[in-house]
Amino acid sequence: MTEYLENLDDRADQFTLPGVPDAFQRLWTPHRIAYIQGDTTPKDGSCVFCVAPGQSEEESLVVARGESVYAVLNLYPYNAGHLLICPYRHVANYDEISAEEVLEMGTMVGEAIRTLRAVSGAHGFNLGVNQGKVAGAGIEEHLHQHVVPRWGQDSNFFPIVARSKAMPQLLGEMRDILRSSWFSGSSS
Ligand SMILES: [Zn+2]
Repeated sequence: MTEYLENLDDRADQFTLPGVPDAFQRLWTPHRIAYIQGDTTPKDGSCVFCVAPGQSEEESLVVARGESVYAVLNLYPYNAGHLLICPYRHVANYDEISAEEVLEMGTMVGEAIRTLRAVSGAHGFNLGVNQGKVAGAGIEEHLHQHVVPRWGQDSNFFPIVARSKAMPQLLGEMRDILRSSWFSGSSS
């Protein structure tokens, strides 16, 4: 870690950067731009959250599967390890899902937190649902709960990996790590 920190100056650009150098943020930016431009819907108009669970293990970013919900890496992450917990059912609103789905979604959010904390050393998390376009939902037709890991300092391995990996490779690597490390069940 010390060596990594000493090398940061070599990698930073000419700007004075606040705190942690922003190379990590810049890595994700092109994908955020694609997202902002609305390029989120498959050409055939199908729902990405309905399609994802049926894709092959190799092409999908799904990391955990429950009975009624699943966890998938966000293709357009706010942060490394940004997960989405989705019901398999094509349901738009939180108040439309069943008691069983509510319970399993909550359980899987907890599993996501424990897994991300264990593998990436995340210090905190943003949890949330954007329901409806006006509330910021990128895909409003299919409910998805965001789980976004946050770090107080540059002490997790994701940004280090991110500096040297192309996005598809990075996402694939994270997916494999999360799949193999996924915590199931309660923390006790
Ligand atoms: Zn759907």
